[in-house]
Amino acid sequence: MKNIFNYTLVELENYFLSINEKKYRAHQLYDFIYNKKINIINDVTTFNTLLKENISKEISLDTLTLIDKKVSQDTVKFLFELDDKEKIETVIMKHDYGNSVCISTQVGCNMGCSFCESGRLKKVRDLEVYEMVLQVLMAEKHLNERVSHVVIMGIGEPFDNYANVLKFINIINDNKGLNIGSRHITLSTCGIIPKIKDFMNEGLGVNLAISLHAPNDIIRDKIMPINKVYYINNLIKIVREYIQKTNRRVTFEYIMLNDINDSETDALELSRLLRGINCYINLIPYNETSNSAYKKSNKEKILRFYDILKKNKINVTIRKEFGSDIDAACGQLRSKY
Ligand code: SAH
Repeated sequence: MKNIFNYTLVELENYFLSINEKKYRAHQLYDFIYNKKINIINDVTTFNTLLKENISKEISLDTLTLIDKKVSQDTVKFLFELDDKEKIETVIMKHDYGNSVCISTQVGCNMGCSFCESGRLKKVRDLEVYEMVLQVLMAEKHLNERVSHVVIMGIGEPFDNYANVLKFINIINDNKGLNIGSRHITLSTCGIIPKIKDFMNEGLGVNLAISLHAPNDIIRDKIMPINKVYYINNLIKIVREYIQKTNRRVTFEYIMLNDINDSETDALELSRLLRGINCYINLIPYNETSNSAYKKSNKEKILRFYDILKKNKINVTIRKEFGSDIDAACGQLRSKY
């Protein structure tokens, strides 16, 4: 049995050709599963009984098992169980401009960032394409509203599951399916340089965010082990190339950790590092977790940091906090399980 949510539209066309059916059958099926949101092949009213029977033998519409859900005013957090009993989380954030879904790409994560609760669990495995597609589709079914934005910022390092993540992006982007515009998809990476290089040549037009979190190697080495492999100057160099090649602005994420990376000197050094780069920097109030040794920077410090960047003509925003009341905020996923 193959899961339907693994198929790109082209793959599905080829499948129908292989069973001596017309290509447009794939478009009909895509429309039924992604737009009409049917749960069984039998509900594809444009297929005759024999065709339905035949494809039911080969293709399943199985979904993920929802085992827990927490709802707050602007956030919904899902805990899903996978076929092998592993668990993943997905978060919906309701903005005034639409619904955004934050998806996980791996069970666990090997990047070991010291401030991140989600990374405490070592990687168990990569997620399959269908497991990522279903996080979006099931969020949409739950909302009974369109998902307009997808952020690939949940548990896992997307560039450590490159091929599956790429195919996932292609599937959710297809205008016959979920039709999430590439400008509405954001991928966040801790900075795996060879993969950033590959990604810039894919021509996808999605947004790239880099988890920077420090203005220099000394600080970054301490909180992000990946920096020992890919130094900050090399990272910035490849981001410059990325921007030149794709003509797209890049976002840098910067968690504000009290007394670690939030001083005025850090702000000045960061301004120098990013000077002249077509980017913007998103300052993230740190979500404290029960096990973490770090504290969040206070409001005054965050605003001071913000002002220094602004004065140095760096585009900067402070991220709105979502879902911290239900442990759905960044770095908090799964910590209760
Ligand atoms: N591996 C990818 C995507 C997952 S992390 C990456 O590193 O970008 C998504 C974002 O949440 C990253 O910027 C990460 O550094 C941030 N994050 C992790 N723990 C956090 C916490 N406790 N508070 C705020 N942001 C956190």
